[in-house]
Amino acid sequence: MTINILFSASSEAWDRYEQPLRAQLDMLKIQYQLEPDLAADIVDYIVYAPNSELVEFSPYTRCKAVLNLWAGVENITSNTTLNIPLARMVDHGLSQGMVEWVVGHVMRHHLGIDLQINDQDGVWRPHAAPLAEDRIVTFLGLGVLGTSSGQALRQLGFKVRGWSKRKKSVDGIKCYHGDDELKDALSGADFVILLLPDTPETKNTLNRDTLGHLKKGAFVINPGRGSLIDDEALLMSLDSGHIAHATLDVFRIEPLPEAHPFWSHPKVTVTPHIAAPTRPECSAPVIVENIRRGENGESFLHLVDRQSGY
Ligand code: NAP
Repeated sequence: MTINILFSASSEAWDRYEQPLRAQLDMLKIQYQLEPDLAADIVDYIVYAPNSELVEFSPYTRCKAVLNLWAGVENITSNTTLNIPLARMVDHGLSQGMVEWVVGHVMRHHLGIDLQINDQDGVWRPHAAPLAEDRIVTFLGLGVLGTSSGQALRQLGFKVRGWSKRKKSVDGIKCYHGDDELKDALSGADFVILLLPDTPETKNTLNRDTLGHLKKGAFVINPGRGSLIDDEALLMSLDSGHIAHATLDVFRIEPLPEAHPFWSHPKVTVTPHIAAPTRPECSAPVIVENIRRGENGESFLHLVDRQSGY
């Protein structure tokens, strides 16, 4: 029997993924067909990018699961034609990539690196940063990426807090949960890092009120999703000086429109949604492991809870 796998993503993604996926599938020693163009009624699995053109899943009557190439699933969770298991991407490359991006941008602001490198003007300006142990970093979202990034910062000495939906306990991270504890999680924090999913509940989590709980001069770092922040409220906080700087990787509209004030604001750094891209070599083994599980009747890894939206 042949397993038929539809690769539903851009042709550029196909070029990058085809070989790593074939290499992993070959190890299963099963017959397979992996194509970007298969008849709907013979497809067993869909490997899916949420920006793919496929939005109508009803014709895929034989399909056992949709295997998302991205960690974020907001573009697909509310699709009513999708009635089979949906797995999102969790892999080593995403976690390590996010750890490196978060640590890099926190250290930039913590050490005041811009102060040193922007003024090569012969003026001696001694600027001693506080130690990491004197800084509080709050992660909004204490899932796979928030936890790994939080633990990396904790190992550097930062005081790390994390906020999640449900009650959690994570070694070395002071944990808060639920709407009632958001204020406590943010109170007096020097950094807030957003690693929440985009769901109806998480929209504008950082707004005029919640920004006000941060320490004056705090830094906002958002590699999560653009919808998590009220843009107007953030701009007001930057202009008033309550927030010293915002480093933003994700936006409500991407690419960020040319006229958006974030581009020209002196206290904003824009990065083009590159914090943690899915890397084919790291994600192919996870996709193929899920196919193996599906074929053996085992439960899939990293299933999305469609009710919660993540
Ligand atoms: P995850 O493991 O699903 O973690 C999500 C976290 O958010 C969990 O701790 C969850 O709480 C918490 N959460 C969800 N809804 C909440 C609510 N209403 N109130 C409080 N906490 C809530 O996700 P992940 O793998 O860490 O990824 C996080 C996000 O990062 C993704 O959804 C994606 O949007 C973004 N991302 C961005 C990039 C990039 O390149 N910029 C790359 C990858 C991912 P519980 O623990 O209680 O469930």
